[in-house]
Amino acid sequence: MTRADQITFDGVSKKFGENVVLDDLSFGVAAGERVTLIGPSGSGKTTILRMLMTLTEPDSGTITVDGDNLFQEMRNGTLVPAREQHLRSVRRKITMVFQQYNLFPNMRVLRNVTEAPVHVLGLSQDEAEARARELLEMVGLADKIDAHPAHLSGGQQQRVAIARALAIRPEVLLLDEVTSALDPELAAEVLDVLRDVAKSTSVTMLCVTHAMKFARDISDRVLMFNEGRIIESAPPAELFDAPQHERTQRFLRSLR
Ligand code: ADP
Repeated sequence: MTRADQITFDGVSKKFGENVVLDDLSFGVAAGERVTLIGPSGSGKTTILRMLMTLTEPDSGTITVDGDNLFQEMRNGTLVPAREQHLRSVRRKITMVFQQYNLFPNMRVLRNVTEAPVHVLGLSQDEAEARARELLEMVGLADKIDAHPAHLSGGQQQRVAIARALAIRPEVLLLDEVTSALDPELAAEVLDVLRDVAKSTSVTMLCVTHAMKFARDISDRVLMFNEGRIIESAPPAELFDAPQHERTQRFLRSLR
């Protein structure tokens, strides 16, 4: 963690009941960096992304984005999300794509993508539509702008979700196992779109994935999690080809 980091976790711990999910975790992510989080199921990876969206609170520790604290301490010592007014600038720059797309089912594709620019950024309908059309073209769905989500394949829905996330021109994009609900072929389409995003933008990416080839292609750094701690952190070529930790070796073998 350095002062220049855009995202910092400092001494963050979280338990659900007796289950220790994050254990005094500290790390930082620089602006524009692409970081992949790997590790066994239940090791706390999704919890980290959810905390950045203030969907889950830490028990203790500090999380900042561009120096802004995401949580504030109550008098009894518990942490709660900072005031909405304080979070407004963070909400405009951070966005998350979920495993289960979560499109608005009652809105056509175009409207799914224009909703946040109009309501969060205050763009006019015309500006938002122009941006949405550009993004839908980028994800290969220019011909589906009038479709309802239910009429799209899972891979197409996920590509709409990516266009929707990018519509606010985020500085930070959080990706939570965005291909794990998809068949390999549809997953490949989605990963190709994300490779383009990585290439054509400077967005900071935090990515939880089991798609190791993709992680190798786009990441600057891979963090290996185990039991709520980072046990290994290295550029992908190093971590995948010469893992130092026995737990990392075992985890990578289990994916083959
Ligand atoms: P990962 O993404 O590495 O699979 P998660 O961050 O999703 O791990 O979950 C870490 C642990 O926290 C898991 O054991 C999970 O069951 C538990 N957990 C996550 N959310 C909740 C919750 N809302 N209530 C209780 N337990 C939870």
